[in-house]
Amino acid sequence: MSTPATHRVVDHLVIGSGFAGLAAAIKLDEDGERDLVVIEKGSDVGGTWRDNTYPGAACDVPSQLYSFSFAPNPDWSMSFSRQPEIHAYLQRVARESGVLDRFVFDTRVVAAAWDEESQRWLVETEGPTGSTTYAARTLLSGAGGLSEPKLPEIEGIETFQGEVFHSAQWDHSVDLTGKRVAVIGTGASAIQIVPELQKIVGRLDLYQRTAPYVLPRHDRTYSALEKAALRHVPGLQKLYRTAIYWGRETYVPAFTLQPRIAAPAKAAALGNLRKAVKDPVLREKLTPTFEIGCKRILISNGYYPAVASDNVELVTDRIEKITGSGIVTADGTEREIDALVVATGFHTTDIPIAHQITGRTGRTLAERFAEHGMAGYKGTTIPEFPNLFMMVGPNTGLGHSSMVFIIESQVAYIRDAIRTMRTHRLATVEPREDVTSQFNAGLQERMKRTVWTTGGCASWYLDSEGRNTTLWPRATFTFRRLLSRFDLAAYTVTGETSPVTTPSREAVSA
Ligand code: NAP
Repeated sequence: MSTPATHRVVDHLVIGSGFAGLAAAIKLDEDGERDLVVIEKGSDVGGTWRDNTYPGAACDVPSQLYSFSFAPNPDWSMSFSRQPEIHAYLQRVARESGVLDRFVFDTRVVAAAWDEESQRWLVETEGPTGSTTYAARTLLSGAGGLSEPKLPEIEGIETFQGEVFHSAQWDHSVDLTGKRVAVIGTGASAIQIVPELQKIVGRLDLYQRTAPYVLPRHDRTYSALEKAALRHVPGLQKLYRTAIYWGRETYVPAFTLQPRIAAPAKAAALGNLRKAVKDPVLREKLTPTFEIGCKRILISNGYYPAVASDNVELVTDRIEKITGSGIVTADGTEREIDALVVATGFHTTDIPIAHQITGRTGRTLAERFAEHGMAGYKGTTIPEFPNLFMMVGPNTGLGHSSMVFIIESQVAYIRDAIRTMRTHRLATVEPREDVTSQFNAGLQERMKRTVWTTGGCASWYLDSEGRNTTLWPRATFTFRRLLSRFDLAAYTVTGETSPVTTPSREAVSA
């Protein structure tokens, strides 16, 4: 006998509990918007930092900046923190915030549809105790841009008999010590995995399609004295964070205006390669053929030395197919392996949550994106989808700085939107189509000059039409300024039909 569905009425429903969902829940709660629920598919908070547990997983943005401004951490052990420490940080912030009682774990959003009559989002969820439908005034998506692993479409991959897993779904029960392992991909995840695997495996075949630029990682451990100073000297940590922020912001013109400004970075990356790889043939294969910055610039001290090691082979021939026991390349060579690691990235321009959200007009967000490209107003709101707020939405990604800064900017905008709705007794806010297209026309115009467009590479930043719908093409302080106030004039609104009361948190059964 199936369990009857439960119905709950809430003010705000947040999807996901990574940096974005967590920040939204904490800040709305601070505003007195306590009637909220956070739906999390995993069994813990942390999002990408919960899921990506592959060996060597670390952040390539300094921790002082890659953390919440409202929850500074003087105890980071290193300048570029490792995944377990970032996950522990998020768990601690969640615990101390007092909002965890409204988190529903191990539960997926199956569908979310706008209901015109009740002017609410009807959100169907599926969890261990059955299904629940929430009727929410606002829907906040913090589902993340890098949450759905993308498997390569390679013939025969499903026939491989050995262990196979994606970098974001590492199977720690598999002991790779002494094994013959293949890694497909040489992106941000792979370059962290390879040095760790090289130390333990018998043989490592690294399948590279495009050589990335890899800069040295200026990583160091903070001393006890530094940590004490950061904790006790008033303003020091904030000053440190601010200095890192502005240092990073100086990279923006190289990405968005003139790639030649990045010549020193290019020289440093090529110098890093020359220093570690003496074999000219291998070095040639590892030399990027596009402009620096066109793809994400990677940082690692261990990657090139690992690739140059005796037990590693860099394979640049195209993969033809995968068999039950190995990988066959276009030249006809088959390399037998025991395990396969696919570090082939995520669904970025075709975000899975978009298929689950149906708007006012009856079409899904994915259907709208298929027509217009993945585009929103200020990366946060979308016409046809009233009261939907996307964090890490279209064109909000960065190649140079901390996504936490972007997320906090969006959360500030959403808070102001909700405050405005309360003040003006508004039932719905929906960005105007004309304002949204004007915003995106300007953005795509800027995009033409960026290295992501002119740099001569294919990357996950671009959609199937070649449009960059993932990155923000300006300074991050401009993004913050643009989102500092909720600009009601850019929205179509409807008023409350009934008096506003503080909604009840009570669950109502059907
Ligand atoms: P990615 O950057 O998309 O890299 C995927 C790699 O797989 C690329 O080298 C790609 O080659 C290759 N690939 C994809 N499909 C393939 C196929 N069919 N055959 C052969 N090779 C294939 O993915 P990722 O490394 O997981 O990183 C994704 C993003 O996550 C990063 O850009 C970054 O934003 C984030 N990340 C951040 C950190 C951090 O430290 N903060 C760490 C890891 C990841 P091509 O280059 O030729 O496409």
